[in-house]
Amino acid sequence: MIKIKNYINGDLALPTDNQCLDVFNPSNGEVYAKCPNSSIDDLELAIESSKKSFQKWSSLKQSERSDFLFLIADLIEKNIDDFANAESLDNGKPLTLSKSLDIPRSIKNLRFFASLSNSIRPVSYRKENVISDILKQPLGIVGTISPWNLPLYLFTWKIAPALVSGNCVIAKPSEITPYTAYLFSKICIEAELPKGVLNIIHGDGKVIGREIVKHDKIKAISFTGGTKTGKEIAIQASNNLKKINLEMGGKNPVLIFDDCDYDKMMNSLLKSSFLNQGQICLAGSRIYIQKTIYKKFRDEFIERVKKLKVGDPFDKKTNQGAIVSSQHLEKIIMYVKKAVDEGGHIATGGDIPDIPNECCNGWYFSPTVIENLPQNSIVNQEEIFGPVVTLAEFEDEKEAIQMANNTNYGLASIIWTKDINRAHKLAELIESGLVWVNCWLERDLRTPFGGIKNSGFGKEGGKYALDFFTESKNICTKYYD
Ligand code: NAD
Repeated sequence: MIKIKNYINGDLALPTDNQCLDVFNPSNGEVYAKCPNSSIDDLELAIESSKKSFQKWSSLKQSERSDFLFLIADLIEKNIDDFANAESLDNGKPLTLSKSLDIPRSIKNLRFFASLSNSIRPVSYRKENVISDILKQPLGIVGTISPWNLPLYLFTWKIAPALVSGNCVIAKPSEITPYTAYLFSKICIEAELPKGVLNIIHGDGKVIGREIVKHDKIKAISFTGGTKTGKEIAIQASNNLKKINLEMGGKNPVLIFDDCDYDKMMNSLLKSSFLNQGQICLAGSRIYIQKTIYKKFRDEFIERVKKLKVGDPFDKKTNQGAIVSSQHLEKIIMYVKKAVDEGGHIATGGDIPDIPNECCNGWYFSPTVIENLPQNSIVNQEEIFGPVVTLAEFEDEKEAIQMANNTNYGLASIIWTKDINRAHKLAELIESGLVWVNCWLERDLRTPFGGIKNSGFGKEGGKYALDFFTESKNICTKYYD
């Protein structure tokens, strides 16, 4: 049994009151690790160590802070197989995905922000005999709270800009997938990251997550997770006027026009629907197809979906691994039942597949395609966050945009057409923070990332993240003849 520990003041530590949570291997449903269920006492220890470190860390040269991140990235790269195995064991995602996406992107996050830190420079404005120097200063101690679907990827996406900006960080990974954050702590020790600069505290979000959000020494919260949790954080953080950045759920539309590059669209669509078991906030879960190609599209898509191999995350041939937890699997089943109640037709999937041998007790769900659901049905409105997509046809651009915007979410959207004028016109009308035209999941890390409506508040990525983790100060000096 693996014993995951907190990382406080540069050391690995069990929780002060010894309370632990079970951590499951989704591929077989067995407990494989224990993780701290931390309390306010653990948080206070972390805050104390961060308070002591802040002055020194924030006074280092930009390049000195970046060097730590570069070193940590190199050490993860050296141990990439261990990290990828840990991510798949913990989350149930295919090992091929952990190796090709999760861990490489985590390394890239660290290197990207380590390089970008050069852009945190004072700016000066001059007006007659007055000079205003604008400093970008770190906030102090900041909190990051991340989810289970891309555990190390989103953990590093937050801590990297916070650290290079000169803050000390209290980071809380998801209690459902704590393993790679634990391995990350060991790498920080190997890299001799100064004590207290980063503290990693594990545990139940409703306990220690809430304490982090409430704590008056924590100046900002960067959160990624569900919309319900994000709203609670917004209310709590407003009590002491904490800075917040919220990256939340999505119900992303895909608009497929009859003039699109059909093969490219089909190959990409299988990924935007089912990659990571559909547990990606950016997944395209509502697929709208122009009437002229609906039947052809529908038959081919279903044929291709049926061929996706669901099974052991450690089998190289697996396309879709295990669902992260039994509770999440129950939620997905509940939505599929609701779809049937709402008049939907399950075109394929909708069931628990038989997975043989050591995976027979794991949590799996077949890739599922549902048709005939009304636009305002619960299943077309609420985020399922699993391998379930709905299909519907549209007549023209006007109807397509109306359908795309018919939701309270606004994270991402995808448009497939060769008509670039139409693509741009629709992209401007679509209510989402990110629009992909003829592609999906292409990311330039310099660009702003974040949703609108119920999907997000504030932006991550590039200088937007550095802005969030710093405060601008104006030093205004007048000089005289
Ligand atoms: P969640 O909201 O349940 O948990 C996210 C994190 O918040 C976890 O670390 C959890 O322990 C913590 N938490 C839970 N309750 C808390 C509270 N009251 N106070 C403080 N912290 C608390 O979300 P999840 O189930 O882990 O993740 C899935 C959700 O994340 C989906 O809705 C998905 O769309 C969203 N997500 C969004 C993005 C994005 O960039 N917009 C990216 C990935 C995932």
